[in-house]
Amino acid sequence: MEERLSEAARLMAVRRRVAVLTGAGISVESGIPDFRSRGGLWERFDPAEYATIQAFRADPAKVWKMLAEMEAVLDAARPNPAHEALARLEQAGVVTGVITQNIDGLHQAAGSRKVVEFHGSHRTLSCLACGARISRNEARQRGHPPACGCGALLKPDVVFFGEPIPEGALREAYRVAASCRVMLVVGTSAEVAPANQMPWVAKQAGAAVIEVNLAPTHLTESVTDVFLEGKAGRVLQDLADRTMALVETRD
Ligand code: NAD
Repeated sequence: MEERLSEAARLMAVRRRVAVLTGAGISVESGIPDFRSRGGLWERFDPAEYATIQAFRADPAKVWKMLAEMEAVLDAARPNPAHEALARLEQAGVVTGVITQNIDGLHQAAGSRKVVEFHGSHRTLSCLACGARISRNEARQRGHPPACGCGALLKPDVVFFGEPIPEGALREAYRVAASCRVMLVVGTSAEVAPANQMPWVAKQAGAAVIEVNLAPTHLTESVTDVFLEGKAGRVLQDLADRTMALVETRD
């Protein structure tokens, strides 16, 4: 592990342009369960049953029950040392952008500025009929489940399974991935497409791939160059410290 951490830090400090792809695993230490955590939200609400656009359209009241619980979890969550390490690396000019599959806004709360929200955000809601967009605070005054002024249903601006990725986010994610020299992949099972294509886009453009996870994924044997096993908080703090130390001695 020691050697692999040094190798990863060296790659990041020498190559600099580091793009990051994050998944639910980076926010587990903030108290938001990933799809694999035991005893979490997703054990009671099967994502295949609750997180599809078809389910939302067919029975919005049922899906809003899950969304209301999820909101409570998201509201209580604060950035953890992993989010903070990435913000620090961006400020130092090492990280060029974070592509996140998360909807929790914790990268921005930690201070990251260049964040591509690949699966949208829970901060706003849009009307499925007229397209009007309102904030979550405003939506709280609109009944339950919340309705638009036009009478149609409001849906959080998160990408449900079966929905397309917002065009701007898709374009920006490809740009960030294709222009990096290192891709750091953190806390994702890489089972959800097209987000799981980003390490391949980076690799094809000549980037090295560093992966941080509790356990190997299908990326580990295929596209990953350096695998760092462990909790994102501890591993990223260590990696950021080592990278910054090398950057300072090189500048
Ligand atoms: P996933 O649940 O499929 O996989 C999570 C991965 O993170 C696993 O490989 C797991 O081993 C790893 N992991 C768990 N805890 C970790 C830790 N402390 N440190 C390092 N790694 C850890 O998540 P996914 O790949 O992001 O796909 C799930 C989909 O669900 C995504 O589209 C995402 O948008 C959504 N989701 C988002 C949130 C959120 O916003 N925080 C939470 C749950 C699910």
